[in-house]
Amino acid sequence: MDFSESPKVTSIRHLVREFMEREVLPLEPALLHQGFVALVPTLKEVRARARQTGLWAAHVPEEHGGGGLSLTEFAVMSEELGRSPLGHYVFNCQAPDVGNMEILMAFGTPEQQERFLLPLVRGEVRSCFTMTEPEFAGSNPVWMGTTAVKDGGDWVIRGHKWFATGAEGSAFAICMAVTDPQAQDPYRRASMIIVPTDTPGFELIGNLSIMGSRGGDWASHGEVSYHGARVPLGNLLGGEGMGFALAQDRLGPGRIHHCMRWVGVCERSLDILCRHAATRELAPGRPLGSKQIVQQWIAESRAEIHAARLMVLHAAWRIEEEGARAAREEISLIKFTVARTLERVLDRTVQGLGGLGMTDDTPIAFWWAHERAARLYDGADEVHLEVVAKRILRSYGMKVHR
Ligand SMILES: Cc1cc2nc3c(=O)[nH]c(=O)nc-3n(C[C@H](O)[C@H](O)[C@H](O)COP(=O)(O)OP(=O)(O)OC[C@H]3O[C@@H](n4cnc5c(N)ncnc54)[C@H](O)[C@@H]3O)c2cc1C
Repeated sequence: MDFSESPKVTSIRHLVREFMEREVLPLEPALLHQGFVALVPTLKEVRARARQTGLWAAHVPEEHGGGGLSLTEFAVMSEELGRSPLGHYVFNCQAPDVGNMEILMAFGTPEQQERFLLPLVRGEVRSCFTMTEPEFAGSNPVWMGTTAVKDGGDWVIRGHKWFATGAEGSAFAICMAVTDPQAQDPYRRASMIIVPTDTPGFELIGNLSIMGSRGGDWASHGEVSYHGARVPLGNLLGGEGMGFALAQDRLGPGRIHHCMRWVGVCERSLDILCRHAATRELAPGRPLGSKQIVQQWIAESRAEIHAARLMVLHAAWRIEEEGARAAREEISLIKFTVARTLERVLDRTVQGLGGLGMTDDTPIAFWWAHERAARLYDGADEVHLEVVAKRILRSYGMKVHR
């Protein structure tokens, strides 16, 4: 067992850390006080400089115009980017585009890659992913109301979606729709179809208000209606009835990206707590950090972050070695473990900062509001707990229903 970091990974870590401190962290006050939309013109310039680092869209192979990192290498980079809410966006590897790029690379036809993947990798356009529906439980991925019916040379899509991250301003959506409602295997009923957002019948109803903010541009979560949106049959991604399988393939590496981003959030959060604990005096000569309970928070956060990082890197390694399906248990384990670690680490920092923790003078309150969703999206905690427990119980001979 070798835990040493390769020289390549060390140099990526240093390069990204230095870029983030110089170019990205100084933008945070504007993000926190004015919102994402006001920053978009400035971010365009910073993104142009990020491109020069060779780590632009680093998860994408070089032949498609990306940085060509492996999943484990990109995991390390993702932690560094996660230290700021803007990191992934600046390097064009933000959700949901990162997952859409991966799925287009793996399953897109050459024509689909030319038309949809390459402009996404170049950062000329953004995309969104529309799967979750208001009327159906998103936790049950084989139960949905949106349908796509063949009519001549087209698919005609009807349905209602919400929580489409970044839908505002997206050039296209990847839509999950039922194409064979009668399929015996419920996991073969839905397909993924690419829908340009200027297609008549695609309507962005509006942005959901999330914890008091409707956001905008990439930082938005849209409600979308497909009312008879018509796209060519050739916009089908990866084959009819393959929607669920593609979603699983999309979410495997996607959970590595999210979890390592959360490890980055945790590291920054602990850093902010420690700086505060070392300098904030409760009485003359008595820093906050002299209190045993604060020392306990610091030590517990350090231990939990360390464990989380090792778990995620192990899951990434397993995906690289054997594929996302073989690593199903590891992926579920990290998804709920790291999301809960994130919540605890942020909570300790809010507590340690006192009133300051509730202000927008640090990114902690922003993360506290935005990252609560970590325990919901890409499978709520309970779904992943169930996946893990059922696999274990199955090995004890218990009959387990899917
Ligand atoms: C910020 C954010 C961004 C998102 N981005 C996207 C996006 O880009 N595209 C997209 O399609 N969707 C997106 N989503 C939607 C997200 O994937 C769903 O919210 C999630 O899958 C849960 O589905 P639901 O909201 O319908 O909750 P439900 O399925 O109704 O579940 C409600 C609760 O029931 C409990 N529960 C569910 N299953 C079980 C079980 N088996 N055992 C015990 N308890 C259970 C859980 O506590 C769960 O939170 C996003 C959500 C958020 C909050």
